[in-house]
Amino acid sequence: MEKVYDMTIIGAGPGGLAAGIYGSRSKLSTLVIEKGKVGGQAATTEEMENYPGFFGKTTGPELTAKMEEHAKLFGTEFVKDQVENIIDEGFAKRIKTKNGDEYLTKTIVISTGAEPRVLGVKGEGALRGKGVSYCATCDADFFEDLDVVVVGNGDSAIEEALFLTKFAAKVTVIVIHDEGVLDATPVIAERAFKNPKIEFVWNSVLEEIKGDGIVEGVSVKNLKTKEISELEANGVFIYVGTVPKTDFLKDVIKLDDRGYIITNEMMETSKDGIYAVGDVRQKFLRQVVTAAADGAIAATSAEKYIAEEEMFKEEVLEADKPVVVYFWSPGNEESLDLMAELEKEIDTDKYKLVKIDTYRNMRISRRYEISEIPSLIIFKDGNPSLTLKDNVTKEKVSESLSKF
Ligand SMILES: Cc1cc2nc3c(=O)[nH]c(=O)nc-3n(C[C@H](O)[C@H](O)[C@H](O)COP(=O)(O)OP(=O)(O)OC[C@H]3O[C@@H](n4cnc5c(N)ncnc54)[C@H](O)[C@@H]3O)c2cc1C
Repeated sequence: MEKVYDMTIIGAGPGGLAAGIYGSRSKLSTLVIEKGKVGGQAATTEEMENYPGFFGKTTGPELTAKMEEHAKLFGTEFVKDQVENIIDEGFAKRIKTKNGDEYLTKTIVISTGAEPRVLGVKGEGALRGKGVSYCATCDADFFEDLDVVVVGNGDSAIEEALFLTKFAAKVTVIVIHDEGVLDATPVIAERAFKNPKIEFVWNSVLEEIKGDGIVEGVSVKNLKTKEISELEANGVFIYVGTVPKTDFLKDVIKLDDRGYIITNEMMETSKDGIYAVGDVRQKFLRQVVTAAADGAIAATSAEKYIAEEEMFKEEVLEADKPVVVYFWSPGNEESLDLMAELEKEIDTDKYKLVKIDTYRNMRISRRYEISEIPSLIIFKDGNPSLTLKDNVTKEKVSESLSKF
């Protein structure tokens, strides 16, 4: 019989790895499918100074290697492959990969992250990998004692400019804002201002990357004077934001206008049993610590979902007699009173009583559109056959049950 994983995580960045740790620690059979290197974007940066507790003591590759080790310790399995499609088969979901493999799983955590946005300027595509790069950590050492240009001024751009100064002779940062204004956080900006190898070109944008088979220079346009100036450079590093890796999800779950996955605070997406974490979801702060936090939440939500669904399937959908599913809430006195009456009244030889706490089992309540407490649905042969919503009384329940 085909193995069904409890949780399958797509992408092994910090979000996916944290989900793996929490999932496998809760005894969920957990699989991570990663198309590249474990660690994601975080593994491409040496400068990892803001992960709580690790100041000055770790790098991106080191931190994510520890996360991988941690997840494996609890039993998370890893497979190297690229997920291309998800088919919702109800409680079980089928994942199809580039290598032609298929995995069945009860829940999915999407943690595919984001990739660098391309600028779209002349020369960028042709010279990509020939001096044009989106990852200083990966490529900086090719530029030992050479001149490089960095485009962008957020945390990633400035951190990477600082990293490049360890190799390059000069790092010129092209900034769209007025002199002295960077989007990077002040502590990072201050470090860059003090670095003698870094120069800034203010109020400017990159117009063109020039070179015959290899980067030789760039044209830069001043937005105030409209003047175009030429700069000699051997490398161009571009950090102008990211785009989420969600192409394969367009027909599966709800995305926002920019392609980011929409989730609630439990990391639930628009589809039951599918969660999204980290940079790939619509969120305020894209960092390692928030990706890891998302992963922990998603795995915990997934565990709860599996328990809820399996209980409901066994107790209600597969029951061999009619089931009275009673929706109650601990804070609703009327529902508590009626529950006590039903417990006495219902003939358990003929019927089964299943109590759903609407606070703890919100998803099931939502699925059957239960908004009033108390409410009740009578299931027969796995199907909701009769619903009582308004002024539910013991008498109304007895009368309804007599029809089954
Ligand atoms: C240069 C740079 C420096 C940074 N510096 C810091 C820093 O100092 N501190 C900090 O907190 N954050 C930093 N960040 C941000 C941080 O790295 C991200 O917020 C974090 O890695 C997001 O984690 P994630 O798990 O959401 O996704 P990612 O780390 O992006 O991981 C996603 C993974 O999914 C895989 N994947 C994608 N699609 C598929 C598919 N279809 N099938 C299988 N696998 C797939 C990818 O290969 C990738 O490994 C930096 C980012 C960059 C780029």
